[in-house]
Amino acid sequence: MTMTTVAGTIYARLGISRVINAADTFTALGGGPLPEPVLTAMREASTCHIQLVDLLDAIGARIAELTGNEAALVTSGAATAITLAVAGAIAGSDPAAVEATPDHRTDRREVVVLCAQRNQYDRMLRLAGGRLVVAGYSDGTAPWQLEAVISERTAAILWFAGSQFENYALDLDRVLGIARRTGVPVIVDAAAQIPPAANMRLYTGLGADAVAFSGGKGLRGPQGTGLLLGRGEFVARARAHAFPRPAIGRAMKVSKEDACGLLAAVELALSLDQDAEYARYRAVCERLESAFAGCRGVNARIVPLGNLGQAYPRLRVDLGPDAAAANADAAAAAFLAWTPPIVVGRDALLPSTFFLNPFTFEADEEADIVEAIRTIFGRDKK
Ligand SMILES: *Cc1c(COP(=O)(O)O)cnc(C)c1O
Repeated sequence: MTMTTVAGTIYARLGISRVINAADTFTALGGGPLPEPVLTAMREASTCHIQLVDLLDAIGARIAELTGNEAALVTSGAATAITLAVAGAIAGSDPAAVEATPDHRTDRREVVVLCAQRNQYDRMLRLAGGRLVVAGYSDGTAPWQLEAVISERTAAILWFAGSQFENYALDLDRVLGIARRTGVPVIVDAAAQIPPAANMRLYTGLGADAVAFSGGKGLRGPQGTGLLLGRGEFVARARAHAFPRPAIGRAMKVSKEDACGLLAAVELALSLDQDAEYARYRAVCERLESAFAGCRGVNARIVPLGNLGQAYPRLRVDLGPDAAAANADAAAAAFLAWTPPIVVGRDALLPSTFFLNPFTFEADEEADIVEAIRTIFGRDKK
């Protein structure tokens, strides 16, 4: 593959190619360029030593205030936020119990996940010494099925936000109702549920004890950051296990630069005019849609939401039998062979469909994508 690097940069020296991300906020693609205010905050943060506990506490307090939550904990990712929340829910903040984690001395270490919501991130609860208990079936969980697995051994319910996770799952309102009646805390994984930034108060406003967000996805903060937001007492228990304390969180480090960058990213995300942002992305989708005009066997149309229901539009491209690419695999391979490589969005259930997502590429990358569309699918192609 031809390398496309910017001469003189560290990527050029390492032989690492720039990639255009037209797919999604995929951690494996490293995150996009950090906004200038985030970079400034990180540069300022690196100028001297500070007391790290004081800094992390001050940033937590500021983010809690900005997002309308009682408390906030800066973590090394949404995955870490889940691990620490579960550790706190099981062990609390008693020093001996914190030290014993994850080899808990209590049986109250079960964490319930709805069957339809099982996914690669639910192992984060096991990292904290939690024991996974599945409620219901892949095609649904009845309220009584959730009630039936809750006992004196239940430490928490972990519920995943996002359209794909919510299909066939008991909705959050009913989960919260059962949790309230049984006295079990609810942790929401909403890692990718921004935009809108207002979601930082949505789930906890509904009554969840805590919610996890990625700092490096919709917030556009440093890739190695995340947030746990929620009730003061609940977040305090998670904090007892968090870096830089001598606890499991010691392996989940947050640098002062990352923490300050995340605060700047939260401030920036909350300052955006969400409707204007949406309109800007919609205009990008419209231009990409016109690039497909006249392409044989291709039907391109704008869909209103992101892959997990995020508030940005995407272009959905359906390939017919006489399209220049036989299926989505072939189309994705052609985009990936482009210089620079372009990664498009996929849906495992739709073998003849791919998506282009304006949220994750830069304005100056749009022309590359348009040229790739015209070359791969243009009029003269068959
Ligand atoms: C991305 C993601 C995570 C992990 O987030 P990090 O910030 O990378 O740790 C966890 N849960 C879900 C649902 C995600 O989409």
